[in-house]
Amino acid sequence: MPEKTSQILKTDYKEIIPYMDSMRMIFDIVRLVDAEECREVSIAPDGNIRFGTECYHVWKTNHRCANCTSYRSCHTRKKENRAEFFEGKKFLIQSLPVELTLPDSNVYSCNMELINITETGDNGKHEEKPEWETSEYISTHDPLTGILNWDGFSKRARALISDHPDVNHLIISINIDNFMLISSLYGNTKGNDVLVGIAQLLTELCGPDTVYCRRSGYNFAICIRNTADIPDLLRDIASRASTLAPSHNLRLSMHFGIYDIENINLPISIMCDRAYMAAEAIKYNEHVIYNHFDEVMLKKIVHDQLIINEFKKNLHSGQFVVYLQPQVGKDHLIKGAECLVRWILPTGDMLPPFEFIDVLEEHGLIGSLDEYVWEFAAKQLSQWKGTKYESLYLSVNVSPRDFYYLDIVNVFKRLCRKYGIDPAMLHIEITETALADETQKNLGTLKELKQNGFIVEIDDFGKGSSSLGLLKDLHADVLKLDKQFIQNSTNEKRSLVILESILGMAQKLAMGVIAEGVETSEQLDILTELGCRMFQGYYFSKPVPLASFEKIVKDQASVNKGVE
Ligand code: C2E
Ligand code: CA
Ligand code: CA
Repeated sequence: MPEKTSQILKTDYKEIIPYMDSMRMIFDIVRLVDAEECREVSIAPDGNIRFGTECYHVWKTNHRCANCTSYRSCHTRKKENRAEFFEGKKFLIQSLPVELTLPDSNVYSCNMELINITETGDNGKHEEKPEWETSEYISTHDPLTGILNWDGFSKRARALISDHPDVNHLIISINIDNFMLISSLYGNTKGNDVLVGIAQLLTELCGPDTVYCRRSGYNFAICIRNTADIPDLLRDIASRASTLAPSHNLRLSMHFGIYDIENINLPISIMCDRAYMAAEAIKYNEHVIYNHFDEVMLKKIVHDQLIINEFKKNLHSGQFVVYLQPQVGKDHLIKGAECLVRWILPTGDMLPPFEFIDVLEEHGLIGSLDEYVWEFAAKQLSQWKGTKYESLYLSVNVSPRDFYYLDIVNVFKRLCRKYGIDPAMLHIEITETALADETQKNLGTLKELKQNGFIVEIDDFGKGSSSLGLLKDLHADVLKLDKQFIQNSTNEKRSLVILESILGMAQKLAMGVIAEGVETSEQLDILTELGCRMFQGYYFSKPVPLASFEKIVKDQASVNKGVE
């Protein structure tokens, strides 16, 4: 049974056909439409999408209804209703947004239209369609540049490729790298001039049988026949566009992403996304201006999508297990632990964080994982109260992305209240890069966490380039020296000097230091000699499940008692 979440019907390609069949018992017409391309679509048993006739043909008009329910539904992600009157009949249309998971795990957004037809008997008095006729230009063109907008483009590009199925077409995305800089330095009007300038260039340089548009903001797209001249065309556009910047000191920089249309039945929006991604992949490369979408990129998309889907399904199903890695003091006794998440698949295989943390960060999902781990930590601390583990603290990671999506301070305060724990038992690890990027806002959060009694640690210190410069602004409690830094420094004389001065500086600033990634007794000796007092690393223990961690602490306590 397909799942309905906040009015969106989420299902996969196999389930949609029986679902629509069951709806046909209630409605006169049941169909799927791609609201952006304004086409009826059908899903073949192998999951391939087939683009059919233009959706407004039902009403025998020339173009999209100005106030199309599916179009609104597609953009609001909510169910929309509307009545259309045609030839003495009333068509009551309900449009339901659908998210369809395809065999390659891509999610395809379309609409299911459920239509009931009743006779009105008024001989078409209600047939008010002129509005549809006059608004065609407005709904398909960009008011700023006068060229097609996304709507117009997706429809015309579909017509172009369907009318010439034997011709190989390309979708090209034009990504402007430094538009925001121009707009913020010289203002919106100058920014708009640049956009108009690019639209004029496209009109001048793209030949006939080419469709181009301003897709959104400062992203343009072209649908064009694949010929040997394409590289020259792109170089021409880039070189002429570079002079559109409002100052001679600044050149407009752009990259092109190319999607070679092999399967004409892919939605235009997915083709454009792929072209866009190909351009994004070379954004920082000054030596190339265009890049073709390829299999490697596709594999990454499929892989990422799989991770995202599985993550959403399984975050609370017990597959995400928090491991603990002991942090020990100079007496080599465990004082606390860092919480490190593991994804245990139903097969029993364990997925290490590097396989999924980056993907979740890229797709704005890391916050829910982090909140899950923070809650685990707070709950565990409350469960340890009154037991022999009571003095242990737990340390949790904060992703740089959490600063965008979460009200970090309030989330931690709420957890302390909910579980009745002392904030000082919860250590919060923030990476140095999160603080270097958006310094002011994030430093404010750091300060507030400290004011509320949490222990704030700067994670991966020494990995980034800004480390020393940042120290003067960072009022954190603890520096966590990055493991790579430890592993390199303990081998090299010059690095040792730097390590020694960081430790000295931290001492003067009254900051604690934890050395991470301690693997050998030699490293431990050097760090101890240099004045480091807290350690974490495989030398003591790898990250382990909760029960094993508690056992290590228990065994250590009994050994220690024996010594006393
Ligand atoms: P991190 O925060 O720097 O965590 C320390 C990593 O170093 C852990 O890898 C740990 O297993 C590893 N490690 C500890 N001691 C040693 C050692 O002696 N030698 C070596 N070679 N490695 C050691 P892990 O668990 O694979 O985590 C990798 C990264 O994933 C973490 O780096 C952290 O950035 C991220 N991560 C893990 N769990 C979470 C989480 O819940 N939330 C967020 N946002 N990130 C997490
Ligand atoms: Ca960490
Ligand atoms: Ca670290």
